[in-house]
Amino acid sequence: MHALQGHRRWPRVLRDPSPREAYDVIIVGGGGHGLATAYHLARDHGIRRVAVLERAAIGQGNSGRNTQVSRSDYFHLVSSRFYERSLQLYEGLSRELNFNVMLSQRGKINLAHDSHELEILRRATNACRANGVDGEMLSAEDLYRLMPALNRHARYPIIGGSVQWRGGISRHDAVVSAYARAATGLGVDIIQGCEVRDFLRRGDTLVGVETNRGRIAAPRICLAVAGHSTQLARKAGLELPLTSMALQAMVSEPVKPLLDHVVMSAKIHVYLSQSDRGEIVIGGGADAYPSYAQRGGLPLLEANVRAALELFPALSRLRLMRQWAGTVDISPDTTPIMGPTPVPGLYVNCGWGTGGYKAIPAGGETMAYTLATGRPHRLIEAFGLDRFVAGRLIDEGAAAGVAH
Ligand SMILES: Cc1cc2nc3c(=O)[nH]c(=O)nc-3n(C[C@H](O)[C@H](O)[C@H](O)COP(=O)(O)OP(=O)(O)OC[C@H]3O[C@@H](n4cnc5c(N)ncnc54)[C@H](O)[C@@H]3O)c2cc1C
Repeated sequence: MHALQGHRRWPRVLRDPSPREAYDVIIVGGGGHGLATAYHLARDHGIRRVAVLERAAIGQGNSGRNTQVSRSDYFHLVSSRFYERSLQLYEGLSRELNFNVMLSQRGKINLAHDSHELEILRRATNACRANGVDGEMLSAEDLYRLMPALNRHARYPIIGGSVQWRGGISRHDAVVSAYARAATGLGVDIIQGCEVRDFLRRGDTLVGVETNRGRIAAPRICLAVAGHSTQLARKAGLELPLTSMALQAMVSEPVKPLLDHVVMSAKIHVYLSQSDRGEIVIGGGADAYPSYAQRGGLPLLEANVRAALELFPALSRLRLMRQWAGTVDISPDTTPIMGPTPVPGLYVNCGWGTGGYKAIPAGGETMAYTLATGRPHRLIEAFGLDRFVAGRLIDEGAAAGVAH
């Protein structure tokens, strides 16, 4: 209908509210996690006096910079339950939010280049199946059939792999916009251009935030600011065990369909997929040193391109269109930190490192429960800050060998 009217009568979707004096909950950070948390607070718990304070524009942080991979093939049971819930929510998200997030469950494949790696993949796949998550092993011939462009003469021979068929990608800016529109529709104030600079206290308890647009009061404040979590938490008197690193990605010019799946190699250290527009999306590991730089650099570009060509020599003639980076917050055990903190009134949702996009739906659902009740949701009980004191680490990086 709008097309017939020359696209002139689209109603404004996001309101542009001025901050009120007080809210029931303030969420700092308008990325996927902050917006999903606000949506679930309003929808599931009837808490609608909620503000999402975003210093720039929504989705300009990591939620709009990632490579969009979703999967739930985690090793440890606590991770598996959480990420499986998230994938299930993704599977119904377009319908629930009435917004096409373009979920494409095209299969996420891991390659094995030696018998040891194959054994690790077998162990991880068995763990998935024992946890009730889909997964299967693939032979080298299966892989060449599924991906004809895969290098048959690779320096590190490809001897097999594993796949989660329900894994895949979705459209990250659609996910951000979908949650923002749904939260706004339920009465949440999404306030862009509003930077939180400090906290208001009564005794030891946080009672609000100091922003560039004035003071705003709230008895519960949730930080969902990804790579800037340590800086902001420190202002509230909390030290978080996180390191901020740049994580880079790049895309080629668009080409005809060449790669039907998401494919990862932990050994060669690269992962690739093809976007709906035809671009080859290439990502690798985080930079080797802490940084807040949100831009790409040549050494990593070379390393990722070299690795991509090792797997798919046919890509060698493609031109790269863009390279960029986001600041990711990496915890010592590569598992997120979620829940209440020792600072009364302060809650955190952080430590997603290189893999929090896939967690947005369940992250929002469980943080909303935690904020509404003051108790960690059962799916995130194990993700609390106290695990670093108790020594109950959940080392997914070591268990599964893949971060994304
Ligand atoms: C290159 C790259 C590739 C990735 N690939 C994947 C992938 O394939 N799959 C996957 O699952 N994950 C991936 N990730 C990780 C994923 O993107 C993040 O874990 C996830 O987006 C984090 O979401 P968030 O809402 O917590 O943070 P963000 O989306 O970063 O949102 C935080 C927001 O907080 C705002 N903010 C910061 N400080 C303040 C302040 N003082 N006041 C107000 N607002 C503030 C920022 O402007 C930002 O908008 C990737 C990340 C990068 C960088």
